[in-house]
Amino acid sequence: LMRLYGPLTSLSNVHVDVMTALVSFDRVFEVLDLRPMVAERAGARPLPEGPVTIEFDDVQFRYPAAEEVSLASLESVARPDTGPSQEVLKGVTFTARPGQLIALVGPSGAGKTTITSLVSRLYDVTGGAVRVNDLDVRDATLASLRDTVGVVMQDAHLFHDTIAANLRYARPGAADEEIWEALRAAQISELVQALPDGLDTVVGDRGYRLSGGEKQRIALARLLLKAPRVVVLDEATAHLDSESEAAVQEALKTALSGRTSLVIAHRLSTIREADEILVVQDGQVVERGRHEDLLAAGGAYAELYRTQFEHQR
Ligand code: ADP
Ligand code: MG
Repeated sequence: LMRLYGPLTSLSNVHVDVMTALVSFDRVFEVLDLRPMVAERAGARPLPEGPVTIEFDDVQFRYPAAEEVSLASLESVARPDTGPSQEVLKGVTFTARPGQLIALVGPSGAGKTTITSLVSRLYDVTGGAVRVNDLDVRDATLASLRDTVGVVMQDAHLFHDTIAANLRYARPGAADEEIWEALRAAQISELVQALPDGLDTVVGDRGYRLSGGEKQRIALARLLLKAPRVVVLDEATAHLDSESEAAVQEALKTALSGRTSLVIAHRLSTIREADEILVVQDGQVVERGRHEDLLAAGGAYAELYRTQFEHQR
């Protein structure tokens, strides 16, 4: 993602942190008065109400070539296909049914983050389609996509602002009590209570420094306040100690429960609960199924499990 955002940061004096504070891609672009590389079609409709089914139908994807990522290209929908860039997704097909948790696993560079970015339509597919409740996301209004999909990326950076303001990015009218409720559900209310300025504590690189696990729980609180029907999440474990690990696990459980979820999973606990695990390699889903079945199959997942997840038991 930074490759897209990189050039943009030079266009404004907004700190790069803002670009990575991706609780909602669109809100970030609102702040900067820039838009994602997609535009709303004439006649776009809101996503249908109700429980959400997400369908990837033979999705092909290639990132736009670097020279296309310029201010000019942000203003036009149709970009010439200059085409030297590589096919990143090569026919990805799966369905996430209402309330299901789909876990994406696989080596770095396989295409997991790319898959998740297509749900909120950060980019348009180059082949096939992504549908939400049978509506192609290219035919959906951007506002309804933004309201439906909640995103927490790895290394959830926060805006350099108060904790209350960071949460209200998700829901501007939220009352303090609603904010506390979200913080409690995300297992971070005790820490905020202990801060001298409570909800008004300024966080971020130049403010109160939260640990990686604390930042992620604030981002989860923001997600809970937004209460989206779909959750797209990139778990992060690298910097977590075992104490915050248990708290994050609990917060994640709350955030995912009852929502259609797509998670780039690094936690064995998440993977075991997944309704379907998609093993992504080189832009393709090479194996799919539940944990026990994939282990028993002794293929790519079993190998990945041995190298990445077994030590978490
Ligand atoms: P994963 O999340 O599984 O590690 P990614 O989806 O981040 O994989 O990346 C898949 C491929 O797409 C990689 O080859 C990566 O280098 C490339 N890629 C990722 N983001 C961009 C981008 N913004 N522009 C161009 N190529 C990208
Ligand atoms: Mg990734």
